[in-house]
Amino acid sequence: MQSQQIETPRADEVRGYSMLVGGEWVEARSGETLESVNPYTGKVWATAPAAGDEDVDRAVRAAREAFDEGPWGKMTGTERARLMRRLAELIAENAENLAVVESTDNGKLLREMSQQARAMPEWYYYFAGATDKIQGETIPSDKPNFFVYTRHEPIGVVGAIVPWNSPLLLLTWKLAPALAAGCTFVAKPAEQTSASTLEFAKLFEEAGFPPGVFNVVTGYGPTAGSALVRHPGVDKVGFTGSTETGKRVMKDAADHLAKVTLELGGKSPNIVFEDADLEAAANGVVSGIFAATGQTCMAGSRLVVQEGVHDDLVAALSEKAKSIKLGNPLEMESEMGPVAFKEQLEKVQGYIRIGQEEGAELAFGGKRPDAEELRDGFFIEPTILTGVDNRMKVAQEEIFGPVLSVIPAKSEEEVIRQANATPFGLAAGVWTKDIQRAHRVAHALRAGTVWINAYRTVSFNTPFGGYKSSGIGRENGLESLREYTQVKAVWVELSGKTRDPFMLG
Ligand code: ADP
Repeated sequence: MQSQQIETPRADEVRGYSMLVGGEWVEARSGETLESVNPYTGKVWATAPAAGDEDVDRAVRAAREAFDEGPWGKMTGTERARLMRRLAELIAENAENLAVVESTDNGKLLREMSQQARAMPEWYYYFAGATDKIQGETIPSDKPNFFVYTRHEPIGVVGAIVPWNSPLLLLTWKLAPALAAGCTFVAKPAEQTSASTLEFAKLFEEAGFPPGVFNVVTGYGPTAGSALVRHPGVDKVGFTGSTETGKRVMKDAADHLAKVTLELGGKSPNIVFEDADLEAAANGVVSGIFAATGQTCMAGSRLVVQEGVHDDLVAALSEKAKSIKLGNPLEMESEMGPVAFKEQLEKVQGYIRIGQEEGAELAFGGKRPDAEELRDGFFIEPTILTGVDNRMKVAQEEIFGPVLSVIPAKSEEEVIRQANATPFGLAAGVWTKDIQRAHRVAHALRAGTVWINAYRTVSFNTPFGGYKSSGIGRENGLESLREYTQVKAVWVELSGKTRDPFMLG
């Protein structure tokens, strides 16, 4: 990739990508490939190798060799940080390119993908700054004549499995702390969106990382993904995706006791109290569910609203939904793109139907838009379902599309009970002007992130992750370094005397 040149894919072009394994660009041993469809045009625009067991094995071996024998394993944190900073610079130089590729692959707005790509270097700078601070401690020994200290060592080879909605950012949440810790890495992007990770992989060569530190295998989840999780050479699996697949991944990783971090689904509530600034709340609810076409794990897909402001808020939301501009994700004025692929569109439509069958009312949207220029893409209108009971499927299951379920509630206690009444616990928004209530409710919510009078903000320095079925472990922040290190205790005998061999000393 040429730095700073934006290469918008041509309509007639099908790009053929290869995988990066041990510093070499390779095809799958079987010669098989998978196709990536542009969700706006509905046409194939790129292909990538469809890796099998053998290819995954090769990549894990390359990562293992780079960890055990290559120069990477011998580098100091300061040296690793230098490479990470160079990588960050290259990401910044190529941000627009990476964003165009992501947007073409998954149909999310270029506006959002470019903001993500431009923000990504911060993760590498932040974790580069941490490389020389991954320090142990000395422990005052309770035994005489011992000097005891700990070391935080890299966990080894990381296998990372990433979904299609924000391929590079979600990869970065795993990769930046893993590199800082000194791990080596095999990434498996989602089969729908392999291209951006392969473009990104080119920057590793340019940054000067030793071969095998970062490898990419592309392929399907049940084959390539599963082979990576089950590989005994993988010491840690970092997974982002659906709760169902996350459970499978955890079971497979358990067979060889690999450590896991799981960042899974959500059914996050946006909670609006009667005393809230309704304009700000309505804006926050829109950002929670219609931004990114609702295709984010942290989507605020349930609106739990106090009855006194229910009707006004639904009216304001319907107005806002009506004005959302659906369009080509590559055009900066578009506000909502298509959903990422056909099956996903059918799933979203299915839930809209189920919701109504269960007794919810369609307050806005629900259809595919009529406009001529949107016919080929997998578009669906922003949709608001009212009269939702928390026991309905549309209140309990992750839809991963622009469908808001509105649940009315009376007291603060009822609001909290409703908000917590799902198997998930990823995030929540609380809209109120009462500062005591805001904190009271934030503490009572069983969720890994609570935004007060805001929604959908994240940072490299703030831990993110789920309670309950939304996940295990945390990404981002210094917290996440623990997920890629393990602690070694070193005991040094100081007296030089022989000890009783039959006692636990
Ligand atoms: P989605 O996020 O599309 O709902 P998944 O959770 O299944 O769906 O996908 C997230 C990632 O997990 C993708 O990269 C996918 O290829 C991968 N994946 C799917 N099934 C498995 C599996 N059995 N083992 C490992 N990875 C898988």
